Amino acid sequence: LANYHAINNACWKEGKPVPYAALCQTLKCCEETSGRLNKTEYLANFYRSVIALNTAEDLLTAIHMSLNLLAATYEGVELGIGDMVLIKAISQATGRPNAKIKADMQSMGDLGEVAENSKGSQKLMFKPPPLKMEKVYGQLQKVAKVSGNSSQNTKVDLIKGLLVACVGPEARFLIRSCAGKLRIGVSESTVLSALARAIVFHELGETKKGKFTKERYDIVEAKVKEAYCELPNYKIIINALLTHGSENLAEHVSLQPGVPLKPMLAHPTKAITEILTRFGAGAEFTAEYKYDGERAQIHLLEDGSFRVYSRNQEDNTSKYPDVMSRMPNCINNVTSAVIDSESVAWDPATKQILPFQVLTTRKRKDAVASEIKVQVCIHAFDLLYLNGESLVKKSLRERRELLHTHFKSIEGEFVFATARDMSEIDELQVFLDQAVKDSTEGLMVKALEDSYEISKRSHSWLKLKKDYLGSGVADSVDVLVMGAYYGKGKRSGNYGGFLLGVFDADNEEYQTVCKLGTGLTDENLKLFTEPRKNRTIVLEVFSADVYFEPEMVWEIKCADLSISPVHTAATGLADPAKGISLRFPRFIRERDDKSPEMATSADQIYEMYNSQDVIQNSAARGGPK
Ligand code: ATP
Repeated sequence: LANYHAINNACWKEGKPVPYAALCQTLKCCEETSGRLNKTEYLANFYRSVIALNTAEDLLTAIHMSLNLLAATYEGVELGIGDMVLIKAISQATGRPNAKIKADMQSMGDLGEVAENSKGSQKLMFKPPPLKMEKVYGQLQKVAKVSGNSSQNTKVDLIKGLLVACVGPEARFLIRSCAGKLRIGVSESTVLSALARAIVFHELGETKKGKFTKERYDIVEAKVKEAYCELPNYKIIINALLTHGSENLAEHVSLQPGVPLKPMLAHPTKAITEILTRFGAGAEFTAEYKYDGERAQIHLLEDGSFRVYSRNQEDNTSKYPDVMSRMPNCINNVTSAVIDSESVAWDPATKQILPFQVLTTRKRKDAVASEIKVQVCIHAFDLLYLNGESLVKKSLRERRELLHTHFKSIEGEFVFATARDMSEIDELQVFLDQAVKDSTEGLMVKALEDSYEISKRSHSWLKLKKDYLGSGVADSVDVLVMGAYYGKGKRSGNYGGFLLGVFDADNEEYQTVCKLGTGLTDENLKLFTEPRKNRTIVLEVFSADVYFEPEMVWEIKCADLSISPVHTAATGLADPAKGISLRFPRFIRERDDKSPEMATSADQIYEMYNSQDVIQNSAARGGPK
């Protein structure tokens, strides 16, 4: 920390641009420390300095750069410059041959470190002026926008221009930013905590009243996180915080058409009787068909345009030109709105829902309406915003009524989720059978009087999937692909099996949950063998032939979950020293609509393990869980 302050004091003055060195020093400290709290503290100190010495815009840049963002996540501006361009830029900036840089990369596994070392051994006649954070950010934005024939050379030139001026860790983080991966183990949640912490200090400094307490920090942190779930746009949040203060954040940051919010999620259940236990006897609830498609958050903006966002807040508008053109026919006295729905593949000839696999054959981006072969029908199940007003605090009963009043159902294009209100379990069984007959996955059972809980996996929504009723586990799991094994025999030439894992947020570590070889077709194996960035991560117990940056999320079905002497998922929860593993895992599909943070967590693995009948029964008999 002393070194960190020394660097900052030497090069950072009030009103002058933020030195890139100060940002990189912060990122370096985050990389070198393992605990979430320490990382939060480093980032918070940096943001505090930016607030004290610079502007709201600089704070936005600082936050974006510590998350490697060039714009709000949903705007999809990404930097993922290929190794070849980066190697060329490093070579030209340092005078080292391409081949040497490539060889170093093979042995070190990180081009950022290679760049830093290459720069370290370089002698310069003239020292370029120190880099400023805003300049680097601006140049990176230019790199992201370059297109056309000579785009590669332009990118190399832009990156080289910055690299020449890099000192110490700056080269490492510049190259990693360009590659799209900072590798400092900082999640969005950590950045939000750090922002909250910095704001608390800033407000204490402004008012000169009170002192920093954990209680105060917890309150501001919760407000900042809540605001971000509702409106994931740092620019708006920072401006609101600095202009109106954390106390009034919610008033100034709320749902806005055009900014996708993090959706409400459901809890799995594997027996109809569980519903009663959760909602209480006599309570009225509604059961909706659970469609197997893709979540579609449809926004109608004040300017009359429509946009569609995925479960992951990605802009899917260009995937759905057909839906966009129909939406104006479905509204009734609506000037702005946000609808929660499922987009489902639809056969207009038979007027039937088609399986999810059919939906995946649609073009993902820039689809042309006249060329679309797979039709979709939007199944709307919630309304979160209407005519300038957020509805999330209203009950589902009210939201649904507004949805039905202000939107028109058109068969095969836009319909309301089939639903039935009930309070008896017997009715639920009959309706579930009907849902299955109608080609859906089962039911979503929802509490009628509850609000929409943005970004929460809530007990007000329970999913009842036909495939899991009465089985060992209530749901499939979404796990991270952490490594692979070279295939043998029929599978030689490709990977033959994979090492899967989960993330444990409490201990900030990846943990293994099983090996997988079943359910993958030859095509899958070929596809997943294609070059991907390898990175050695230390796994104490399990070795694989190749390790991956845990970025890919796969949906896996398993027979049950059991205590494992070798796998480390949720260690310490079900057993003090052992982890939990998936038994008889089988690959279902890649979940490219989920980011690694959205995969099943170690805590959820424990919850699923614990809710198995055999474990519950054993606990009831006084046996071990
Ligand atoms: P999750 O979204 O809970 O992380 P998942 O992505 O694996 O899990 P499922 O477990 O299959 O998905 O179920 C949840 C999803 O079901 C929702 O995210 C939504 O896309 C979809 N869905 C279909 N019908 C409905 C409905 N009537 N109400 C809410 N969601 C529905």
